[in-house]
Amino acid sequence: MPDRSTIFALSSGRPPAAIAVVRVSGPRAGVALEKLIGRVPEPRKAALARVRDPRSNEVIDEALALWFPAPRSETGEDVAELQLHGGQAVIAGVLDALSTIEGCRPAEAGEFTRRAFENGRLDLTAVEGLADLIAAETPAQRRLAFRQLKGLIGDRSEAWRRRLIEALALVEARIDFSDEADVPEDLLGPALHAAQQLRDEIAGVLADGRRGERLRDGLVVAIAGPPNAGKSTLLNRLARREAAIVSPFAGTTRDVIEVHLDLDGYPVTLLDTAGIRDSAEPVEQEGVRRARARAAAADLVLWVIDGSACGLAVDEHCIANVAIWLVRNKIDRVDASPCMGAGKCDNSEYEFTLTISALSGAGMEALTAALSNYAKTYFASTESSLITRARHRRALEDTVAALDRGLARDHSTDEELIAEELRSAATTLGRLTGRVDVEDILDVIFRDFCIGK
Ligand code: GDP
Repeated sequence: MPDRSTIFALSSGRPPAAIAVVRVSGPRAGVALEKLIGRVPEPRKAALARVRDPRSNEVIDEALALWFPAPRSETGEDVAELQLHGGQAVIAGVLDALSTIEGCRPAEAGEFTRRAFENGRLDLTAVEGLADLIAAETPAQRRLAFRQLKGLIGDRSEAWRRRLIEALALVEARIDFSDEADVPEDLLGPALHAAQQLRDEIAGVLADGRRGERLRDGLVVAIAGPPNAGKSTLLNRLARREAAIVSPFAGTTRDVIEVHLDLDGYPVTLLDTAGIRDSAEPVEQEGVRRARARAAAADLVLWVIDGSACGLAVDEHCIANVAIWLVRNKIDRVDASPCMGAGKCDNSEYEFTLTISALSGAGMEALTAALSNYAKTYFASTESSLITRARHRRALEDTVAALDRGLARDHSTDEELIAEELRSAATTLGRLTGRVDVEDILDVIFRDFCIGK
């Protein structure tokens, strides 16, 4: 039985601000409006109103009030919205007044969205799209999240599930009629054909190189290289702020520092890894271990070396199967270095070599342009990818696996088992959109939400 209490919360950002939005959802939302502004405005029309504390009748603020009767509201319940002046005391006064109304209580994190889901206003993938839209930091992430909110994968999965249920009905009919003389002979053929088509379609969606997931999380570029090469200085210059401590002493960046960049609309997460070198000091050893792990999982490594020194090759056990660019730093000191340009450094294992001075900024424009280009090329095909989360991928992989098992059965004797696999595939698709059996994952999904959402 769902909780039918009426919930309220501040839904806008941190006060003080010009405007604050307080939302109320549930069966007593209309009563709350009566108590606070003395009436219920016309549905979906903004009304100017004095907001009063029902206990003292004191005016708290003048606000715009909105009324969205169920079911045509964000949550599917009666919803009231007050657009107040965004001051701490105004908000506190209104929330306090609401809490005195019987049947009203403060909302928990994500509770408005959870009700929207429970009332069928949003499917689970749309809920995730909403969370991603709020978290989106770049235009490309925003576009992907918005498409998901609008049913990019949800509608597709639902259509797949319907087709699957049609195929299943044919198999079941075949089982039911099998004893009768006038069995429509070929019920199984069309069912298996449909299952095969679905299987191939879903497998095609899975073969996207995980770009949607990458776009959601950001392409990971690790800055690695020997201590004192200028990695932190480079990170700061790329991030244009003091994200990493720059120190003239070797081995000070002990942890992994992360900076999120928007490169021409595409998200890139930059990692500054601790100076990778062998050390006897335990804290530093741990830093080196983490640095190696993160660099190994990156999409691209910028291997920074002091270009005014020589002969430093990539640490072999740290990086494998990753694109590596060699960044020769400190070119401002080239003249002082006798070996620069003497051809001692072997560049053959790098995809790309750049020469910069992180200190003076020389060569930085070319490096930024190359990174933007890399991100753009990487994400070029993301516009068509449907999957943005590991949860979606698992569900679709499970669906394909069930279909494969069903299709591999003997068609003339194993109808029951084929039906069983088709049913299991339909259930997995239903879990993706939250139509069936999802209690166990709801808490994980709504955990990402803030109060008032
Ligand atoms: P990390 O250990 O690789 O992170 O190196 P840091 O960024 O902490 O830099 C080590 C030292 O090199 C600092 O004193 C920096 O100011 C200096 N440095 C970094 N980049 C350059 C550069 O392009 N030119 C010169 N001359 N010094 C640099």
